[in-house]
Amino acid sequence: MSLLQVEGLGKSYNLETKVLKDVNFTVETGEFVSVIGPSGAGKSTLLRCINRMVEINEGKVIFNNLDVGSLKKKDLRKLRTDIGMVFQHYNLVPRLTVIENVLHGRFGYKTTLQGVLGRFSEEEKEQAFFLLQKLGIEEHAYKRCDQLSGGQQQRVGICRALIQDPKLILCDEPIASLDPNSSKVIMDHLKSITNDLGITCLVNLHQVEVAQDYSDRIIGLRKGEIVFDGKSALLREEQ
Ligand code: ADP
Ligand code: ADP
Repeated sequence: MSLLQVEGLGKSYNLETKVLKDVNFTVETGEFVSVIGPSGAGKSTLLRCINRMVEINEGKVIFNNLDVGSLKKKDLRKLRTDIGMVFQHYNLVPRLTVIENVLHGRFGYKTTLQGVLGRFSEEEKEQAFFLLQKLGIEEHAYKRCDQLSGGQQQRVGICRALIQDPKLILCDEPIASLDPNSSKVIMDHLKSITNDLGITCLVNLHQVEVAQDYSDRIIGLRKGEIVFDGKSALLREEQ
């Protein structure tokens, strides 16, 4: 059974426009898949259907054998633990430190106030440090997030997504606000750490070249429909 199955998925936010139309694809455990397409193609909406940030109007999303569209509210927390998110604008809590932001990913309820590190066990902190080390930012652990560069903040965002021990991570334009050098650092880290930890990755990108360099497979979206789904090498030959 595939980790993720999207079957005949349709989504509209209003009556006039269908943002996603009959979208079908599956993702296997361990795959690194990019979704490319121009702005407005429906890439973000697709990710939001997969983790049920929005309601699904037509078709099905099956994740880890669960029918995501029919999950009850109480089951959404578990779904969102199994599916980590990485955002274009990092979505960190600026007044918290790096380590607090990472721990927030797994133990959010404990970090409602500043200076709450004492509430975490050594094991929890070690786990956060392990990830920070993997991403090369452990030296910044006790800095406030708003003192870091964009690329460093995104590395914190990746650690926060990974500490919840997800099966899948969804990355919505993770490098769209970064310069080419930082983008490369982020994509290199994303690829190697998800590979090392055996985590499946679905990444929205608008740069075709980046998708080609890093993905096992590329899904092309245009006006809410899949126009390409295949090995990145095939896309290269077509051009
Ligand atoms: P992409 O990520 O490819 O840029 P989006 O999924 O963000 O595409 O948007 C697809 C279309 O859906 C766009 O036309 C956008 O304006 C519209 N849209 C996105 N979010 C909403 C929303 N919350 N309400 C209404 N329309 C939306
Ligand atoms: P980004 O491309 O960085 O995601 P957008 O401008 O597409 O930024 O969207 C910003 C926010 O506005 C998103 O949460 C999206 O859901 C919402 N949004 C986008 N298009 C529309 C729309 N046509 N109507 C209502 N909300 C929208």
